[in-house]
Amino acid sequence: MPAAHADSKDDEYSQVLYKAWSNYLAYSTPNNSISIKVHASSNVSQAAIKSFSDGANWTLSRFGAKFSSTDTFHLIFASSYADAQKLSLEVNSELPNYDTYNTRHLSVAKSYFDSPDNSTPAGGTSSRGCNYDGSPYGSFQGVIKPCPALTGGTIYVFGTSNAFENNFSNLFTIGAHEAFHLVLSKMNPNSHYDVPEWIIEGVCQSIGLTAASTDSNKFKDGTMLNPSPSLDPSTQSNPYDLTLLENQQGKPERFAIGILASDLLLSRSDLQTLFKFLSSMNNPNAWDVEFEKTFGFSKSIFYQDFKNFHSWYFSKGMKIIRGKQFPSLLSSSSTTKSTTKENVKIICVKGKLTKTVSGANPKCPSGYKVKA
Ligand SMILES: [Zn+2]
Repeated sequence: MPAAHADSKDDEYSQVLYKAWSNYLAYSTPNNSISIKVHASSNVSQAAIKSFSDGANWTLSRFGAKFSSTDTFHLIFASSYADAQKLSLEVNSELPNYDTYNTRHLSVAKSYFDSPDNSTPAGGTSSRGCNYDGSPYGSFQGVIKPCPALTGGTIYVFGTSNAFENNFSNLFTIGAHEAFHLVLSKMNPNSHYDVPEWIIEGVCQSIGLTAASTDSNKFKDGTMLNPSPSLDPSTQSNPYDLTLLENQQGKPERFAIGILASDLLLSRSDLQTLFKFLSSMNNPNAWDVEFEKTFGFSKSIFYQDFKNFHSWYFSKGMKIIRGKQFPSLLSSSSTTKSTTKENVKIICVKGKLTKTVSGANPKCPSGYKVKA
């Protein structure tokens, strides 16, 4: 029965983004002892800095365990090129080895401030700061050596003061996104050079949107429903070949298409497997060999799988997904999950008493509250 088949495909595909969303939310390896140090131009408001730092903290509170408690994250908020120079010197004096990264950061600052964009700030990190063509640490053409390790890392945001003031929501999302780049480079110093861009940017962007979706004060429309940057469906009528997004070319697709592709990959496996792949990559081994070994299916099978999902998404999936409500989707995905007999543990508190309750859908006994 072709009609029934089409329906079950709709059901399966419409869960893809939510499966990723729930996987990221369920993961909890917090590190609450990482220090964050802010270096900012005087005309960047505390509200802008707070929004961005909240986003970075959101990621660290779930994925921060890879860092040591002595690590410091330096956040640079520069509203002019002169400030970018001044603030990166400040970081150089405090973070050993940062000077091998900052040449690249300043060249990004230069190109931003040569033609500043008032509509949005630009973020980046020390995850890919020292390997670039002509650098002593390697190039994209050859075998890449790991960058020197940093005790923590640096995230920069360059923007005009208008761009900072008009983008509090975006700043939160960018903060969560950029902090995950640092988590990735902690998993594997070579990840940003050995793993295809559609996975790197797709995962970071998906985490940024997941973070945004959890803050209903800032995001009333459920950001996961609106993958960004948004793409015009009419430009997406051909089957999408992910080979186009394996390197750093391809904007904005490596973000917007990358979210869809990395979410599909996650829905075909789980977060532990995805993180295992990201941690084990080691140039010059070809990534697709490691991919097949870890996920159990080949790159070409997955790329075909994505072509089907992409066609569905832009022909009708976007409408189907946006037409559904978060709660119904989440409850149906947790129903699917409970068939795998997943054991969930919660801690319940009543005054000084605590109780651990586990099961597929654990609830606290009466009088107890779930520990926040
Ligand atoms: Zn990124």
